[in-house]
Amino acid sequence: MPGNLTAHQAEAALGRPLTWLEQTWVIHTGGWKDYELYCLTFFILVAGYCLGSLPFLTLDFLKIPFFEKYRIQPTYRNSYSAVVDCFRSVLGDMFMVILPLNLTSFPFFSVAGINGGVPLPTLPEMAIQLATFFIVEDFGNYWLHRWLHTEWAYKTIHWKHHEFTTPMSFAASYAHPLEILILGIPSFAGPAIVRCHVITLWAWIVLRQWEAVETHSGYHFPWSPTKLIPFYGGAEYHDYHHFVGGKSRGNFASVFTWCDYIYGTDKGYRYRKDFELRQAAAKAEARAAAGLGYSVLANGGQKWEDVAKTS
Ligand SMILES: [Zn+2]
Ligand SMILES: [Zn+2]
Repeated sequence: MPGNLTAHQAEAALGRPLTWLEQTWVIHTGGWKDYELYCLTFFILVAGYCLGSLPFLTLDFLKIPFFEKYRIQPTYRNSYSAVVDCFRSVLGDMFMVILPLNLTSFPFFSVAGINGGVPLPTLPEMAIQLATFFIVEDFGNYWLHRWLHTEWAYKTIHWKHHEFTTPMSFAASYAHPLEILILGIPSFAGPAIVRCHVITLWAWIVLRQWEAVETHSGYHFPWSPTKLIPFYGGAEYHDYHHFVGGKSRGNFASVFTWCDYIYGTDKGYRYRKDFELRQAAAKAEARAAAGLGYSVLANGGQKWEDVAKTS
């Protein structure tokens, strides 16, 4: 049902008393039309993106040694001018591309069934819908990103996103406006095909922004909760795609690893990981043989980190 009902009207329409959460929602949004609630999506997107980037930007700025050791490409740091350009470009595209889209796309989502009323979605319902959105986005993004690496599309559109060969959090959406439009299709395909509440849409927007920001953060933290998600790609996975740059023919997927695995586009990455592990193992053996110490598997088991401990 639409969002602009009073608590009394909503209870009459539902045929039952509202829950505490539903009452709170209706009190705060009862006077809002569905379109007005939908337009809040843009501000939630911008806030989610900036707040998600902030911790990583702080680490980039402070260069705290404890966190520095988790940088994926520790030998290179983006210049301040590149960071400022990135801010300008990303925020400019948000206001010039995403805001107009948000303001004009409501009729489409309204037909798709998005609503801001009661009943509110249950947690299991939200979880299933969000998981569906991630799977749909990942599959669509894989093929569109793979197409963006064809000669014409890369030279015309995708080159900009690859200006950062050492990614940073705020550069997650640093891209040509056309790329923002093209990759927005799989991002909004889920909410467009699954009838969802505007709260679920907002949760999706925030989680998707945080996922993209973390993936571009340049840090690989072994304690990241995303490590609990099966088949999750993560920062190191996408960082490799940026590290290789325009010639990259792999690690196209945005969230999970299965598309690259199924379609055979993760071979270069897996070869490099095996090579790194073999190199580190050989180094550890040489150190042990020389009586210099030992190496331990650090960085969440993803990379060998030589620990200089003499015995
Ligand atoms: Zn790419
Ligand atoms: Zn990227």
